[in-house]
Amino acid sequence: MKKKFERGEIMVNTNRFMGYEKNEYGELIINPEEAQIVQRIFQMYLEGMGSFKIAAKLNEEGIQTVTGKRWHDTTVRGMLKNEKYKGDCILQKFYTPENMRGRTVRNNGEVQAYYIEENHPAIVSVEDWEKVQELMEKQKKKRKIGAGGVEKYKKRYPLSGMLICPHCGKTLRRKQVYNKRIEWWCSTYIQYGKATCKGIKISDEVASKKNITEKTVIEEVMIDGEKYYSYTSKTDYDRGIRNEPDAPATKNGSVLPRVNRPRRTAIKL
Ligand SMILES: [Zn+2]
Repeated sequence: MKKKFERGEIMVNTNRFMGYEKNEYGELIINPEEAQIVQRIFQMYLEGMGSFKIAAKLNEEGIQTVTGKRWHDTTVRGMLKNEKYKGDCILQKFYTPENMRGRTVRNNGEVQAYYIEENHPAIVSVEDWEKVQELMEKQKKKRKIGAGGVEKYKKRYPLSGMLICPHCGKTLRRKQVYNKRIEWWCSTYIQYGKATCKGIKISDEVASKKNITEKTVIEEVMIDGEKYYSYTSKTDYDRGIRNEPDAPATKNGSVLPRVNRPRRTAIKL
């Protein structure tokens, strides 16, 4: 195998990945339709979209990964880092140790690796590829700084991590909307879009009026065309208990008389 590399007869031993196919000699050739998707991903990233947003956009458009799966931020980042898209390749990234026949392990310097430039046709220019790597490095540094800030952020807002989306079970995230108003939105909805979770939102003003001190599932209830919320502790919710929505208020602000029924309604599932 090693001799073959040195002679220049190169076999790129990879699983199928987006943008390329192998011809009968095992060489990488461009798959034009997939190459367009690859180029779009690099373009979107260069235009300032993050990997979460790119994944959400592709999912929304019904575009699948090369293995027919949904996109995740990790899939996008893996592609953005892949040197094969600028026409280069690393041989011996992985290798089979003598004593472990049939198993492949990552090469951490145990065997000679080769970096081959212009091994096959590129899908993105070297300049764009390098720019993307720089941007990713910057983002990584920002996230590291941000990681220290997350704890502070959590302590700053009593509702952080407390409100739960009834559709996906994830927490709601604080979000500034128009007119500097604050709302809490399902974090899955924010990250992956409505194709993954139909989402829920509630204004900070409304949620703050409830004295929420434990994980609480928020549900929207429409009564006579108006939206009300119900609040059920996650512990109860998981047991199949659903609280009634807040009583609808009349126009002058007074609260309609409550029908005499228990606050909690158990629904058998
Ligand atoms: Zn959700």
